[in-house]
Amino acid sequence: ERRNPGEDDFRQAVRELATDIIPFMVNSDRYARMNILERLTEPDRIITFRVNWLDDESNVRTNRGYRIQHNNSIGPYKGGLRFHKDVTLDTLKFLAFEQTFKNSLTGLPMGGAKGGSDFNPKGKSEREIMVFCQAFMSHLYRYIGPNTDVPAGDIGVSHKEVSYMYGQYKRLTNELTPVMTGKDLAVGGSLIRPEATGYGAVYMAENMLATRGDHLEGKTALVSGSGNVALYAVEKLIQKGVKVLTVSDSSGTAFDSQGIDVEKLQWLMFLKFERKGRIEEYAQAFKGVEFLPDKRPWDISADMAFPCATQNEVDEADAQTLVANSCQLVSEGANMPTREEGIRVFQKNNLLFAPAKAANAGGVAVSGLEMSQNSMRMSWSREEVDTRLQGIMRTIHEQMLEHGKDGKTVNYLRGANIAGFIKVADAMLALGVI
Ligand code: NDP
Repeated sequence: ERRNPGEDDFRQAVRELATDIIPFMVNSDRYARMNILERLTEPDRIITFRVNWLDDESNVRTNRGYRIQHNNSIGPYKGGLRFHKDVTLDTLKFLAFEQTFKNSLTGLPMGGAKGGSDFNPKGKSEREIMVFCQAFMSHLYRYIGPNTDVPAGDIGVSHKEVSYMYGQYKRLTNELTPVMTGKDLAVGGSLIRPEATGYGAVYMAENMLATRGDHLEGKTALVSGSGNVALYAVEKLIQKGVKVLTVSDSSGTAFDSQGIDVEKLQWLMFLKFERKGRIEEYAQAFKGVEFLPDKRPWDISADMAFPCATQNEVDEADAQTLVANSCQLVSEGANMPTREEGIRVFQKNNLLFAPAKAANAGGVAVSGLEMSQNSMRMSWSREEVDTRLQGIMRTIHEQMLEHGKDGKTVNYLRGANIAGFIKVADAMLALGVI
């Protein structure tokens, strides 16, 4: 509290982990003696910088840039960049903390980091976005490198922005070295990277249902958000025979009681990825779709929920409503979308609940595969990458079972926390007090 004043999201993320790790450490003296948990609550390094850029009217604009290098005990720092008006140090510290354990769960050698800016891409021209990305990288480039820190995208940063920043890195260093993932295919990106987080959250749901002898086909689902994670989760759910009832954005929810089909999804992808339109337009374009202004999807009755927009978008009351409406499963595509009280409601009611650090690890896992492909100077087919992604999600699920089994039920959050922690903690022990 005293060391991180006002950083509610960061402290929430630490509490969510510590609640499981403190009892676990009681039986493991070596972690406690080496003060591993406290060391992990302090990022290795926090870098902030001023970003000046010229808008289309030739005004100089100023934003703040950040990179939080949280822990690199198991591999180079790795984590996305977020461009959103509400970005603060608190947001990025919680995301970098979570990223460390998520990356550990993938089994790939990647440390944890996060970065970004309070730059708001909404309403900016193509030129302004490129100029901002270049200005941002003009500061960041000296702190990153293929063996040091490998950033990627997140909210407001797609393959386009990643590629602009990558271009600026090339200009500044005269090296086309793979220092970023989530790049455009034309400059060394991986197939399935854009899809990976959303697909992964659905694969996780499939694995959890299988423990109850159940499957996805025929079920209904609520999805929040309509960005990269949400729309590819919708795509995979449709492929698996699930009826998806909602998508949303920060202005409200579109409720499609008929279910989103392949054609409507294509329309949505064009709306969101190309035209940058609002979700209300979906309700205007298709009969039977209702727009619920300023509402999140959680009041609608469905078998499963996939929060894929942002942090703290499911509170205690939302969780109670989902349970009352017989929701059986929650797979978190976004980072920390459920508040602690909401998680307790899911756990008390024995829902299949996959926490973000496990359920959305597919994105960074394929980023790890992008790094492998880049260093081998080759690219794998869609099938190859997708098969590896499914294998990684299965292995994450198995690790959660191993550490989260509680008699007949599974505490997936505890499983993810302990499995993610052990690998990082063991590496820190091996490296000594540094
Ligand atoms: P995008 O920018 O593509 O989409 C974000 C979506 O969430 C948009 O629909 C946006 O609506 C909505 N949203 C953002 N902020 C808010 C808010 N405060 N309230 C309501 N809705 C909001 O981002 P991504 O899809 O990439 O990321 C979504 C989540 O998934 C984030 O939590 C991110 O950290 C996490 N994640 C992403 C990964 C990836 O590979 N991209 C990997 C792992 C996790 P609007 O357009 O109105 O702002």
